[in-house]
Amino acid sequence: MSIKEKLQQIRATIPSHIELVCVSKFHPVESIEEAYACGERIFGENRPQEMAQKAVQLPADIKWQFIGNLQTNKVKIVVPYADLIQSVSNERLFDEIEKVAAKIDKVQKVLIELHVADEESKQGFTPEEAKALLTTDFLSSHPHITICGVMGMATNTDNQEQVRNEFRQLHTTFEQLRDGIFKDMPQFKELSMGMSGDYQIAISEGCTTVRIGSSIFGARQY
Ligand SMILES: *Cc1c(COP(=O)(O)O)cnc(C)c1O
Repeated sequence: MSIKEKLQQIRATIPSHIELVCVSKFHPVESIEEAYACGERIFGENRPQEMAQKAVQLPADIKWQFIGNLQTNKVKIVVPYADLIQSVSNERLFDEIEKVAAKIDKVQKVLIELHVADEESKQGFTPEEAKALLTTDFLSSHPHITICGVMGMATNTDNQEQVRNEFRQLHTTFEQLRDGIFKDMPQFKELSMGMSGDYQIAISEGCTTVRIGSSIFGARQY
């Protein structure tokens, strides 16, 4: 099946109010051009250099989202190109994004990455850590960052009940933050969860954004 046909299939299963991030990591610019020709404008990447190289070769109206593990020393590569950084997973990243964004006079949109999966390998704040970190003082000391919501991943398992429970935890934490510290900040509205294998569950658990790669572009060659 072509990328166009796969996109049509996927799009048919996603309600129109949900944002689709086409995860193009490890796929060539030609594949992104195919998806772009179908009307897709939001692409997700997880390696800083790869995102920057693709961004300069492809149309300027693409919204690049960084979704991967981000090292502090790579923030300066990502901030100039990223419409949104979904994977802010520790406090040092907030400080570095603030510094880099201030230098280029940008307000960087981010999501807070939460860790709810049953896997050590995944990044992110626990719900408790996120709630403790996000105070009025913290927000006002990072004026070049706009926090637009939360992102998370479920455990990579066939146990659908576990996946559903983890998405529920993300949704609950999202609501607690939205109705708490962010209650007067309408830009805090995104709940990014769901990938090729579990996005239907994520949609039924109330996500606003899904991040789909292999079901659109095929298997990645690492
Ligand atoms: C790679 C990746 C995806 C997409 O995964 P697929 O299974 O290919 O859909 C989504 N989110 C994150 C954070 C990723 O790293």
